[in-house]
Amino acid sequence: MECLFCKIASRVIPANIIHQDDTVVAFDDIGPKAPQHKIIIPRKHIATLNDISSEDTLLMGHMMETAVTLAKKLNMADAGYRVVMNCNSGGGQTVFHIHMHLLGGRQMTWPPG
Ligand code: 5GP
Ligand code: ZN
Repeated sequence: MECLFCKIASRVIPANIIHQDDTVVAFDDIGPKAPQHKIIIPRKHIATLNDISSEDTLLMGHMMETAVTLAKKLNMADAGYRVVMNCNSGGGQTVFHIHMHLLGGRQMTWPPG
């Protein structure tokens, strides 16, 4: 297994896991870009957003639902937060296993860099 996030999902590489179930895992980002910065991944290895297919529809919805549930648990829901997915190098993707960034705890700016 070569993929960093597959290794985190299977506990080969440690991470501070804050949620896990049959299909998704969420953990603290190692280099937080905000006071709260969580990563939500599917257990299924999908390299980029370009690689999702119709069979992943429920999985993608569950990732989003997990992000919202965590935002509420972390008391960020009312103040606001940001969910981001980067695709390929032009989109800023550095780990090629799809993931959602959940960012909060500070004022976000727009447009992003
Ligand atoms: P990307 O740039 O691909 O959208 O996001 C990858 C994210 O993974 C970055 O925010 C980076 O800080 C985080 N990251 C990279 N390596 C590790 C690691 O080994 N452990 C954890 N917890 N996060 C990582
Ligand atoms: Zn993977």
